[in-house]
Amino acid sequence: MQRRHLLVAGSATLALPAYPVDFAVPRAPAAMRASVDRLIDITVGIRPFRAQGPRIEAERRNGRTLIHHYGHGGSGWSLSWGSAQRALPLIQATGARPGERIAVVGCGAIGLTTARTAQQAGYKVRLYAKDRPPRVHSSAATGLWTPDSRIVTSEHATEAWSADWEAMARASFKVHQSYLGLPSGPVEWHDGYVVSDEDFDQPLPGHVGEPDYPELSSRIADLRPQGKALAADEHPFRTPHARRFTQLVFNIPAYQRLLLDDFARDGGELVQREFRAPREFARLPERVIVNCTGDGARKLLADPTMTPVRGQTARLIPQPEVDYALIYRGHNLVVLPRRDGLLVAAMGEHDFGNDDLRPDREQSEAAVRRLAALLSA
Ligand SMILES: Cc1cc2nc3c(=O)[nH]c(=O)nc-3n(C[C@H](O)[C@H](O)[C@H](O)COP(=O)(O)OP(=O)(O)OC[C@H]3O[C@@H](n4cnc5c(N)ncnc54)[C@H](O)[C@@H]3O)c2cc1C
Repeated sequence: MQRRHLLVAGSATLALPAYPVDFAVPRAPAAMRASVDRLIDITVGIRPFRAQGPRIEAERRNGRTLIHHYGHGGSGWSLSWGSAQRALPLIQATGARPGERIAVVGCGAIGLTTARTAQQAGYKVRLYAKDRPPRVHSSAATGLWTPDSRIVTSEHATEAWSADWEAMARASFKVHQSYLGLPSGPVEWHDGYVVSDEDFDQPLPGHVGEPDYPELSSRIADLRPQGKALAADEHPFRTPHARRFTQLVFNIPAYQRLLLDDFARDGGELVQREFRAPREFARLPERVIVNCTGDGARKLLADPTMTPVRGQTARLIPQPEVDYALIYRGHNLVVLPRRDGLLVAAMGEHDFGNDDLRPDREQSEAAVRRLAALLSA
């Protein structure tokens, strides 16, 4: 590969050193250090899946208006802001005036963004939650912009539902962009490679034991640059096929911390409290309550429409020099260059309907070994 360097002379007045500027041709990506002894953490979380898509609706219970806002599957971070914008009119429809205090139950991605959206509309907000970050399922997320991941089944994805989803995804995307360029880097764009042993035209089998999911991504294809197929001398991997893509990445710890800080700065209160039955909501002083309990709603409301989908992520020691994502297609491996570590995600064999929160170290070690084998090939 041809490399062109331009030597820039230092300016005496600005006392800048001479330094090489590499332009036009991308540098070889920094090597990922993939070995199991660099594993620093393994986290398990539950995706709160609903075949019908997220539940966003109000009901009257025990003299309170309860606004349900849960069931975002594998898309909670991605859709959060747009979904919160859908819940807001339900709050306003109760007659609650700006300045009134409302309750939000749940401090995951959905509770935090709902609370911030309500604050921005002028409400005072008290958050009640059994657990706060990092002990919420949202903290285990990979951190990719995936608004169409396990969000609805094909059976329920009518044209009207899909149009609503698209509006939500677009609204959410816009707010995520406003978190770019901040010192803690809650949201960043990263290039990445999808590498494959098979031609990209070859379809992959779906996840075993899961329902059919609709193809929704083509509706928002304009929201990210189109990927590019790479010739063998345009990427460093030995797989016969590779594509480059550019993707929105959420640095989850930084994003959560910023949301919590912004919430507190705008007068938000956070109360540690577990609700064991919906009638306990009636004891709250607030008359409008937004229920953002995620998978917790499954037990709290005995909601039979909810299915837990287990997910496990692991982190290798951070490598700030690695600035690209890597997906090994057909080999159950996603690696993200997060600031808190190289995040390695892999599906388990029986995740659908599984709410087992015990980490499976062998699953993550096997994923790291697949990565090591790919890199050494
Ligand atoms: C492994 C994994 C990878 C993922 N990757 C991505 C990704 O890359 N991109 C993406 O967009 N999404 C991803 N997701 C999905 C996303 O994380 C979820 O959709 C999101 O976490 C749902 O957020 P939530 O706020 O509804 O739930 P949670 O994070 O579970 O928060 C629920 C809150 O409610 C509280 N609560 C629950 N029950 C009660 C109760 N009875 N009383 C009081 N409080 C209660 C909890 O303590 C918590 O504070 C991933 C999920 C997993 C598990």
